[in-house]
Amino acid sequence: MSVEQWGLRVPARDGETIRQALIREGALDPMLKVLRDGSDLILPLNGPREGAGLYSFEAHPGREPLPRHELVGGIAILQDNDPAGAEKILASRPSLHTAVYAQGEVTGEYRTREFTILAGAPTTRTEVIEHGHHFTVDLAGAYFSARLSTERQRIAKQVQEGEVILDMFAGVGPFAIALSGRASLVVACDLNPQAVVLMLENCRINRVENILPVVADSRRLAEVLSWRFDRIIMNLPLSGTEFLPEAFRLCRPGGIIHFYSLVSSEGEHTARICELRGELIAERVVRSYSPAQWHAVYDIRVL
Ligand code: SAM
Repeated sequence: MSVEQWGLRVPARDGETIRQALIREGALDPMLKVLRDGSDLILPLNGPREGAGLYSFEAHPGREPLPRHELVGGIAILQDNDPAGAEKILASRPSLHTAVYAQGEVTGEYRTREFTILAGAPTTRTEVIEHGHHFTVDLAGAYFSARLSTERQRIAKQVQEGEVILDMFAGVGPFAIALSGRASLVVACDLNPQAVVLMLENCRINRVENILPVVADSRRLAEVLSWRFDRIIMNLPLSGTEFLPEAFRLCRPGGIIHFYSLVSSEGEHTARICELRGELIAERVVRSYSPAQWHAVYDIRVL
């Protein structure tokens, strides 16, 4: 029986190492067989992640495939309202405490979704471990996506000792906490008070003391902060463009802005960046969103 599921294409020579890492993370779908395609392997995943695509997999004989779902900490998020499937998922993995159905898309200024509890403990709160950091998240109360964990590590490696960083759309603080190691200060702003309460808790859990959480509209930051930042994170992919002038005002000359945006063509924002007196260092695809659109990150130096 073949099943459509998310898969990660890897060179066959690295396949076993990556497979073991995915098992440790609880991200490998144990019900499906690994695919071989030339010199690559395609490893079946429980849900989407950076670099993954949809493939047709064969189920292991005797193992019934699980409904498609995504894992966030101890919660499985199903794409269908399938209580029986939810029970099967919980039974297959002791580390999970809850299975939910995500009703509709991420919406509103807070970028949250509504969930129906299908099985397990009646909560949308869970703990996520990402590269040694622990995050308490509440899926219904504040945005969180594990799909940007590689991005956070990429940027963390670029941070220089003593940098003053601004995260304009910080959510529960995953970027701010990941970047706080070498920074002297990270100002982490979000409009959603519930996100900022969780961020405070996450700072405490991770013993991070150089983050300044702010509940505010990022449009107003330049009016109240006289600082100029060395680095700015802008992760509001659907409407971040309107905040670009604000980010340029808040960044020092020579400083870096990491601007995430949903785009449908390469170079979509290049002209606007030049107009604002920015130099485009790099434009990368972070993940695909639909056949014609993808999330891109623009690394920009302010001139
Ligand atoms: N950076 C976080 C992450 O990676 O998990 C959260 C990103 S989420 C896509 C965008 C966040 O921006 C949400 O938490 C939302 O509440 C916040 N937001 C939306 N509009 C805002 C505004 N005008 N000022 C500050 N935060 C805003």
